[in-house]
Amino acid sequence: MNYDGIIEKLKNGEIKLYEVEKYSSSNQEAIDIRRKFVEDVSSSKLDKIADYTIDMETASKKNIENPIGTIQIPVGIAGPLKINGDYANGEFYVPLATSEGALVASVNRGCSTITEAGGVTTKIIDDKMTRAPVIKTKSVSEAIEVKKWFEDKFQKLKKIAESTTNHGKLLKIDPILIVGNYVYPRFVYSTGDSMGMNMVTIATEKILDLLFNEKGVHLIALSGNVCADKKPSGINIIEGRGKTVSADVIVPAGIVKNKLKTTAAAIVEVNIAKNLLGSATANSMGFNSHYANMIGALFLATGQDPAHISEGSIGITTAEEIDGDLYFSVNMPDLPIATVGGGTSLDTANECLNILGVAGSGNVKKFAEIVIATVLAGELSLVGALAAGHLARAHKDLGRA
Ligand code: NAP
Repeated sequence: MNYDGIIEKLKNGEIKLYEVEKYSSSNQEAIDIRRKFVEDVSSSKLDKIADYTIDMETASKKNIENPIGTIQIPVGIAGPLKINGDYANGEFYVPLATSEGALVASVNRGCSTITEAGGVTTKIIDDKMTRAPVIKTKSVSEAIEVKKWFEDKFQKLKKIAESTTNHGKLLKIDPILIVGNYVYPRFVYSTGDSMGMNMVTIATEKILDLLFNEKGVHLIALSGNVCADKKPSGINIIEGRGKTVSADVIVPAGIVKNKLKTTAAAIVEVNIAKNLLGSATANSMGFNSHYANMIGALFLATGQDPAHISEGSIGITTAEEIDGDLYFSVNMPDLPIATVGGGTSLDTANECLNILGVAGSGNVKKFAEIVIATVLAGELSLVGALAAGHLARAHKDLGRA
């Protein structure tokens, strides 16, 4: 069938959007046909969406369904950012993908403040990925039996889970929560350099097969929202999910004055009034100014799952004056990231990971430290700007130029 013939059949519903590959000579041709169809039915021109450099032939096999092309987001660079980490050590240039004017400039100012102050210290406190299905039993008594089944059989279940993956390890099943006749076991894995959601889903499914054979209970959903995936949640704040990371820096009073045009005392006051009291008043989960800005821009640049920005941007900022100098820290309990799998192999994402020297296996902890250091740079810059009262001027000059 020729190009026009397939488009005609798409229009009259004889071929579905997802069937175009079957009637095309290559995935590339399918992409072009589908886009032409969309142009026709929406009376639009999609020349820019059609103009890309990444390998869509490969992407269409694992990253996207019904592809028609790509969108583009400007990428800027901030740095150098000096990091004194356990895994990231040295000066880094950080790629940030955003359309928000002033963001890269602001992070850049934070980087230069940190670097002049001698660098930011970064620490990984915990590292895990979770999956918590919801299982239906007949009663609370049976729910308790299922809980005990998981506890008693842990070593056997660990072997079953780990038979599905070379890199995933089942660390624990904890907590196992019961609500009436429903059970929510939270499976906790380490997942190497991958973010791990597919990995832990496959491993957990295999364990549940055994549960259903032995106990005859019923699976309501493979994710019962206690995971808690792609939603800010209390359980992730307390238990952690993805990487649990912290970073801190001491900025001498002179650098606070020269770079941030303010004082440690003013920054401490903004942090208390805004990030702590304001967030408490709003019942917010993010006791910070804008972690989502840095997480979002870094996630888009490096091929992370953008839906994880929702949980990845919770966390608490602290600030303290020590003899006129500023102690400043950022703390993120729930940072799901990867240097392998998902979107990290897309060509532009891979290039951005290469700028940081973290593409591929063996690099995810270094990447986590760079992410938290970048968050600190952006947070310090914004809180500093608020303290100096020059936020409005920066936006006027840079965002609306
Ligand atoms: P994945 O690409 O599905 O799996 C990672 C793969 O990389 C595995 O096959 C693993 O092999 C392999 N691998 C090679 N070297 C590795 C290393 N050093 N460390 C870890 N793995 C290594 O990625 P994923 O992280 O599990 O899942 C990410 C994707 O899941 C994203 O695209 C995301 O959007 C999606 N997602 C899925 C769900 C869901 O519910 N299924 C929810 C949210 C997001 P082995 O397994 O043999 O070790």
